[in-house]
Order: sequence, then structure tokens, then C-alpha cells
Amino acid sequence: MEFSGGFHDECGVFGVCDSQDAANLAYLGLYALQHRGQESAGIATLEEGRILVEREMGYVADVFDEARLSRLPGRTAIGHVRYSTAGASLLINAQPIVFATGRGPLALAHNGNLVNARKIREGLEKSGALFTTTSDSEVILHLIARSKAPTLVGAIAEALQEVSGAYSLLILSREGIFAARDPNGIRPLSLGIREGSPVVASETCAFDLIEARYERDVEPGEIVRLSREGFSSQRFAFPRFTPCVFEHVYFARPDSLVFGKSVAATREAFGARLAREHPAPADVVVPVPDSGMYAGLGYARESRLPFALGLVRNHYVGRTFIEPKQSIRHFGVKVKLNPVREVVTGKRIVLVDDSIVRGTTSRKIVRMLREAGASEVHVRISSPPTMASCHYGIDTPTRRELIASRQSVEEIRGYIEADSLGYLSAEGMLEAFGRPAQSTCLACFTGEYPIEVPEEEREKEGAIAR
Ligand code: AMP
Repeated sequence: MEFSGGFHDECGVFGVCDSQDAANLAYLGLYALQHRGQESAGIATLEEGRILVEREMGYVADVFDEARLSRLPGRTAIGHVRYSTAGASLLINAQPIVFATGRGPLALAHNGNLVNARKIREGLEKSGALFTTTSDSEVILHLIARSKAPTLVGAIAEALQEVSGAYSLLILSREGIFAARDPNGIRPLSLGIREGSPVVASETCAFDLIEARYERDVEPGEIVRLSREGFSSQRFAFPRFTPCVFEHVYFARPDSLVFGKSVAATREAFGARLAREHPAPADVVVPVPDSGMYAGLGYARESRLPFALGLVRNHYVGRTFIEPKQSIRHFGVKVKLNPVREVVTGKRIVLVDDSIVRGTTSRKIVRMLREAGASEVHVRISSPPTMASCHYGIDTPTRRELIASRQSVEEIRGYIEADSLGYLSAEGMLEAFGRPAQSTCLACFTGEYPIEVPEEEREKEGAIAR
């Protein structure tokens, strides 16, 4: 079986301990986290010392119905949603992964991506380990199963000291749920309480839906056990907190608190800062829905220009980004967005979006707005040029495919056929984010990776060594 565990996995995790309707709560939690992964969904529960699991390719709402949820009794549950690129998009890679160990059954749900999984896996396979998935997450379970540590939490700590990369993970066991976050805290992971039961989720929007109260984040380098008694904590590594700024730029839901901060407020601050850095001679600010909404609001407020919804999104279309073929992707933007002529005709428009990846979306939208009668289109992007691949769990294409890795801002402006183009500076983004560069992951914007990425992993994505 070829290892394909890659840097493309985007995921969301949810867990609830000691509660009636645990599987139903997990279903709702995953529903709120659907934006973090649309390819597969799964829930595992603990029932009388056994772990039951249901997983399938598809959206949460399509994978689970009442009958399926009723096959998941038990008061403790973890769940997972996942998106990965075609190579690894297999049911066997759907999570939670379940594993029988000498310490009883374990189920694992992982958000993030390990950078040394390939190497560890080769070593384990040489010594006889059999892997049942092609994803990087399984190595963690093998390492736990092999550990000689006297306690389960000790074994988890030992395993996590060996892996490197980004992980916010949940392990379901007979002792409850263990929630852990890598020492850099790249991906979010929050703890909450619902009617006295501990809950954990990638984003707090999942708590809102189930009426849980947000307590705090799992700290970088911390393992928290969720049990009937509440939370108990243990450090397994010294923290070097470098959270992913792209969670706030694009990935997380605006109604979530991520790394303890409101995503909506950060996006508005990015937009306001962008307006100061790159004002535009325009009549109206039009956001790209939904990705540019909050930055567009911030831009409009700061520039004192009217904010208008000049593009309408069809919400029943999957993410254009996922479409595998270039021809479909081009078509996809049209299916997804349509201009409102009454808003755009005869207007000089500031079009605000969060990022340009390949350039396809912006190019299509600029054309669309001109065809609908816009007199000028000034594109403003609420983050710096995306010029390097993410190795920590955000789906970015290979470096070669990122337009900003090969072209200057002026060349990109020409490609997307905009009258002008302005990106938020890295300094401006950090100021609005409220964190210095050395304690933030900016890898997709700078190519500087806070957790070392081995050469073979970089080669895999055709990265240009710099
Ligand atoms: P592109 O057409 O390749 O330039 O893609 C740009 C669009 O993709 C923007 O509207 C972004 O909001 C969106 N985007 C950025 N990153 C991602 C991602 N990881 N997954 C899906 N969409 C993304």
C-alpha cells in the first residue's frame, strides 16, 4: 500500500464525554464543522468497553441518518470530517481510525498533517507493523500501541514526542477522550462544557450549535483528558506557539473564536488595514461571497465607501477549489457566482477577497463584473500573496500552481485583468492579527516553515528550493 498521507488534508474534529445522545451531539458538532472537510465524515462511540464506528464518504448530513446514529450507542463520542486530494480520497482513510491495542481499543481523529510520518512509517513497517490506511495519522496509533509507558496518557505523550508537524487530535479510549495539540499549536482545538459534560472541537461554532460554553483552548504541547470528572491536563512538550494565520484569513468560520480570537473581527481588521495600505478610486466595495465578506466590510468602513452585495453565491455548489480538472474549475466559478447588474453597472468597483491561489477565481469574477457593466475593477486581497504550499493541513496546490510563486503582483494583475491589484502586507496582517512574525505560522505567504519540513516532503510537492 502506497503511503499517500500528504499535506493536503483539511479536517475538523469534535468530541463529547459522558453525555446522553453522544453520537447525536457529535453529528451536530460535525455539521457545524462541515466547512473544514467535505469528503468523508465519521463518528466513533465507546459502548461497554468497545468502540463502534460509522464512517462514509460524503457530507455529514448524507452520511448519517437516524438509523445510522442509532447504531452508535454510548455516552462518549468523537467525530471527524475530512477533505483530501484525489490520491488519498479513499474510504479507508476516513476517520476516526479504530485500533485494538494492549490497552484496549482506541479511536483517533486528527486535524493537521505530520511531516515525518513517512519516515516513522517506514521504520515501523520494517519491524513488522501492518498499516490499514494510507494516511499519516495512523502512525500515532502504532506508536501508542508500541509504547512501554505504564499509563495510556504516558504512551500518548511518548508517541507525540516522536511525531513532528501539525496536529490537533482526539483519542477515544476506555479512560475517556484525550485531546492533544502539537507544541506549535498550528491548528485550533477548543474545550467547552455542555450541561456538565466536557466537549472539544476544532472551532467554537460547534459549541454554539449544541449550546455548550467555551472554556479555553487545549494549549500547544498539552494533553487534556476529558472524562466524567471534567478536564485533567498534562504537558508533553515545551510550547512554541505559532498558530496558522490562514485559519483567520480563510479557513475557519467567521462566527468561531479561533486561538481565542473572533475570526470575523480579525477579518474586518485585515480589510480595514488593506484599505489604508491600498486605497482605490472607486464607487463601491463588493466582497467575493463568502470568503471576502468580513474583509470587505472592514475595507468599506475604513475607506468610507458603500458596501454592496454585487455578487450572489449559489450555496448548493461544492467548493470550486476541489474540482479536479481545470476545465471544470473554470466552469465552476460561473456556477457558483453571478453578478447583480443593478449593483455593478456603471460602477468603479473594489472587489475584495481573502486570497488568490491559482488566479482562476479572480480572473473569472473580474470578467464577470465587466460583462455586467462595471466600469473599473480594483482587486484587493486581505492577505499577502500565497506563494508556498502548506505542509500542516491546509489544502494548497503545489508551489508551481500558485500564481504568486511565479509572477509579480503586476503580472498577476495583468492575468486577472484587473485595473489595479493590492495585497495586504505581511506586516499589516500581523499587526491586525496581533501577533509577531516569529510566533505565527506564515508559511504559505513566506515559505518559512516554523516546523522543519524534511527535504523529501518538500520535493514531493515540487517545491522550488529557496
Ligand atoms: P483560485 O481561483 O485558485 O485563485 O482560488 C482563489 C479562491 O479560493 C479564493 O476565493 C479563496 O477564498 C479560495 N481559497 C483559498 N484557499 C482555499 C482552500 N484551501 N480551499 C478552498 N478554497 C480556498
